[in-house]
Amino acid sequence: MTTTTDTLVPFDEVLERYDPALGLEVHVELNTATKMFCGCPTEFGAEPNTQVCPTCLGLPGAMPVVNGKAVEAAIRIGLALNCDIAEWCRFARKNYFYPDMPKNFQTSQYDEPICFDGFMDVPVETGDGETQVFRVGIERAHMEEDTGKSTHVGGATGRIHGADYSLVDYNRAGIPLIEIVTRPITGAGEMAPAVARAYVAQLRDLIVALGVSDARMEQGSIRADVNLSLAPKGSGVLGTRTETKNVNSLRSVERAVRYEMSRHAGVLDGGERVLQETRHWHEDTGVTTSGREKSDAEDYRYFPEPDLVPVAPSREWVEELRATLPENPTQKRARLQQEWGFSDLEMRDTVGAGALDLVVQTVEAGASPQTARKWWLGELARRANDTETAIDALGVTPADVAAVQALVDEGTINDKLARKVFEGLYAGEGTPAEIVEKRGLAVVSDEGALSAAVDNAIAANPAVADKIRDGKVAAAGALIGAVMKEMRGQADAGRVRELILEKLS
Ligand SMILES: [Zn+2]
Repeated sequence: MTTTTDTLVPFDEVLERYDPALGLEVHVELNTATKMFCGCPTEFGAEPNTQVCPTCLGLPGAMPVVNGKAVEAAIRIGLALNCDIAEWCRFARKNYFYPDMPKNFQTSQYDEPICFDGFMDVPVETGDGETQVFRVGIERAHMEEDTGKSTHVGGATGRIHGADYSLVDYNRAGIPLIEIVTRPITGAGEMAPAVARAYVAQLRDLIVALGVSDARMEQGSIRADVNLSLAPKGSGVLGTRTETKNVNSLRSVERAVRYEMSRHAGVLDGGERVLQETRHWHEDTGVTTSGREKSDAEDYRYFPEPDLVPVAPSREWVEELRATLPENPTQKRARLQQEWGFSDLEMRDTVGAGALDLVVQTVEAGASPQTARKWWLGELARRANDTETAIDALGVTPADVAAVQALVDEGTINDKLARKVFEGLYAGEGTPAEIVEKRGLAVVSDEGALSAAVDNAIAANPAVADKIRDGKVAAAGALIGAVMKEMRGQADAGRVRELILEKLS
């Protein structure tokens, strides 16, 4: 457990005296088949140091070559963020020593990023049911490469301090990264934590829609560094910032901003200066701790990479890539909500359950939006939860759900029987129609059998029958229940009700 001796000012008080400024640097690991500057595979989970070559190990004389697919992904991300795309740009060496970086420099981009001057409009809920749109300026999105991975063995914390020895795996060294850097986000006030979270969430959705990364924060394929500073309220200046590194969940992004706002205010209230430094985020205790004093860019001795040719994407290619951009996820959601007639809550629940695309596909397969939502957020979400399975990995396809609903709509089964059809689908017993057949689930539509069951129910419940004869139609429920019981649920309740009322009128 990491505890803190920081003086923390309550959040509301922070806002009485200070204006926060946010900045977010998000690293996206691309899902290209090969690394940024060599042909090594990028598959996750291989034996350590099996996906390496002279180039990504930084051996003398090895020559890097730029991965065209990574450049394409960078441009598509830039276009989706409304950036300008450089007509000509270079890579640069960022020089520093780190054991998991075999070249002793990172090949990155410095003053010539491939994408620059963009923005993203981020809707944020204000808490009173309203939505406010923040325009987040994108300063740049540039290409670089990942480092290897160190494992420190023998210590209590997994950090290098106290470890007996360390192991390095270079499989990750050289995997393509895109770093997306915002301009300072000011004017968010008390909304600052929510804006940070909403920005990262929306950026992740965009990356998923573009298909350029797995975009799994918990696995580190998207990592956020959160910059924060406070300035005296109304002063219009920017204070000294801290950079909290590698925050790897949306909730943590929000918490880290809150924590740093309270901590900065404590430092400033005490008449001291905020130290410009990196900070570590501790998920378990929700605090940040000091990392290292932040280097200025000059300390890295950037210089243009002499072994790589400049990147000069033609305008034709950029326009071709622009034409491949998917619909913006935020706009897509708004469009679908309108088309489907969902309430804000219904839409939020659908998205939150990870079921948006599944509902889209179920509607495309012929179901109504409300019935598609009903199954995915009811029966199927429950099953996913009970079995700790992803909702799209239950063995039930959107086409299956549409087929089950079609069977309900045509009266072959009712909702209760549909749940049994889903049980058959989980067990891999075939198509919904086959399962109805095999399990004998179809509702009884034989009027003779239904009529007999209704007669039995009336005979067994004379007092109820008298009430209905007297016009107390609400009493019919008891008879319907009796009939459904006799038919083991395999009857159309609507038809049973009609028959009861016909016979007793
Ligand atoms: Zn390699």
